[in-house]
Amino acid sequence: APRHLFVEEALSSRAYDDDALPIGYSQTISQPFVIALMLQALRAGRELGRVLEIGTGCGYQAAVLAQIATEVYSIERIAPLLAKARANLRGLRLSNLRLKHGDGNLGLPEAAPFDSIIVAAAAPQVPKALLQQLAPGGRMILPLGTSEQVLRLVERRRSGYSETTLDAVRFVPMLM
Ligand code: SAH
Repeated sequence: APRHLFVEEALSSRAYDDDALPIGYSQTISQPFVIALMLQALRAGRELGRVLEIGTGCGYQAAVLAQIATEVYSIERIAPLLAKARANLRGLRLSNLRLKHGDGNLGLPEAAPFDSIIVAAAAPQVPKALLQQLAPGGRMILPLGTSEQVLRLVERRRSGYSETTLDAVRFVPMLM
């Protein structure tokens, strides 16, 4: 996905740096390396299938996901950011990507279950609704914590969930 389409003109010279950049409303576009890390963990040995993304932001990761997954739903809490994402994504014509305004802590029950869930804002705990909306065999990756954060990979088994802690990361906090 062409990352320069997702940041302000004034930052376009930094669009391909491996850094998070501001996108307005105190939010950031994720660092490409961290997106790669999360997608690698979600995808290892299987397909992404139907995906739920929490935290559309400017839409960059949603565009990446739509190119490698069957179907992508992405939820954003801040309406004007969602409008920005829609504008950024329009030209890319990703027909398998649906954007929704709402609280990602609640997931998207009407489109559940999901084979993969990826969260782009850090919560103190794994949101219960997201666990429930994970398909059997499905995987979720999310940053957990407040000042100190780690990536957590959650896999839904036939009975119960298995959890693995991955790298230390820095994400914006999940809004309640
Ligand atoms: N996926 C984006 C990352 C955006 S940063 C990218 O490609 O760069 C995280 C985003 O999560 C912010 O836009 C923020 O507004 C959003 N967010 C925070 N709390 C949320 C919530 N409870 N529900 C949905 N989105 C939320």
